[in-house]
Amino acid sequence: MKRRQFVKQTAAGALLTGALAGCGREQRQTAPAAPDNTAAPAPTTAETRNWKMVTAWPKNFPGLGVGAEHLARLITEMSGGRIAVKVYGAGELVPAFEAFDAVRGGVAQMGHASAYYWQGKNPAFNFFSSVPFGMNAAEMNAWLYKGGGLELWREAYAPFGLVPMPAGNTGLQMGGWFNREINSAADLQGLKMRIPGLGGKVLERAGGVAVSLPGGELFTAMQTGAIDAAEWTNPYNDLAFGLHKAAKYYYYPGWHEPGTTLECFVNRDAFEELPNDLRAIVLRAGEAANQDMLADYTARNFGALKTLVDEHGVGVRRFPDDVLARFRELSAGVVAEVAAANPLAGRVHESWRSFLDAVGDWNTLSEKAYFDIRYN
Ligand code: CA
Repeated sequence: MKRRQFVKQTAAGALLTGALAGCGREQRQTAPAAPDNTAAPAPTTAETRNWKMVTAWPKNFPGLGVGAEHLARLITEMSGGRIAVKVYGAGELVPAFEAFDAVRGGVAQMGHASAYYWQGKNPAFNFFSSVPFGMNAAEMNAWLYKGGGLELWREAYAPFGLVPMPAGNTGLQMGGWFNREINSAADLQGLKMRIPGLGGKVLERAGGVAVSLPGGELFTAMQTGAIDAAEWTNPYNDLAFGLHKAAKYYYYPGWHEPGTTLECFVNRDAFEELPNDLRAIVLRAGEAANQDMLADYTARNFGALKTLVDEHGVGVRRFPDDVLARFRELSAGVVAEVAAANPLAGRVHESWRSFLDAVGDWNTLSEKAYFDIRYN
């Protein structure tokens, strides 16, 4: 075969290879002048839909922001450019905590955040994000995809004209950054901490003050002393935020967020206007992004933790047993109150609780038994 002919015949294959390579983490993060799809915008046709994605994260921020960009690129690539998604970081189009209403109102077609940010709309949303002493990442995915969780989530967002889907998971988070040591439950009195969702309610019952702040404001709030403690996610993200420059102690485990699901929500009119193949692409891209983020965190947390300890002298501490016991006791009450808040929350809680109990029985003799032996 002549070279010219070969080049012509493989052009389509090369594009496909580029698209697949673009799904790889290294390709995305390094890709300087590599001939991936970012360098060759998809042709604009009459069928092209230009979608805006608003997010709760600083643009391109490691982990969460990169996850949003990855999802946008997947949809754009998989659809051959028929849906071209442009990502807006927090504050670029709307502030972080207005993403939900922006997509609801059609200012943007899709959003990337986590459901507990919108618990003021319905406390049931907490179950689709993370619940203190609740499910880890594998359990959340199992409940959402195979245990009825996603159906309930769609029902919960339907009155707001939104179609939700899982679009990332941080895995188990860290307990947060503290400017002083926590030696007993008494040290929580008056502690002013940035901690969202139900974890914040638990802290308040333990005598602390919970503050809700978007990620981009954490460092300044810590550094100025406006708050005494802050949790964000885990080492990979926390190192990038520079939180170690504002607080000395880094506590674990993240009892309040044992496997936080990130979400993508799509304006229902925009979604339903799509032909079936594009709907499938949006949904499958969400699944791929969901898996990719968990792998990203899992692959990068240990290196980031080593950097925090070895290069920045961070003091890693485990919460004392009595503090964890207090959090656990208070969490049960907070979760029960959410379940009693309204009929939908009651149904979501029932589904979530029965799945967690059942999967817990299995995990006790599978994952837990294995980890116990692997680390003893
Ligand atoms: Ca967090």
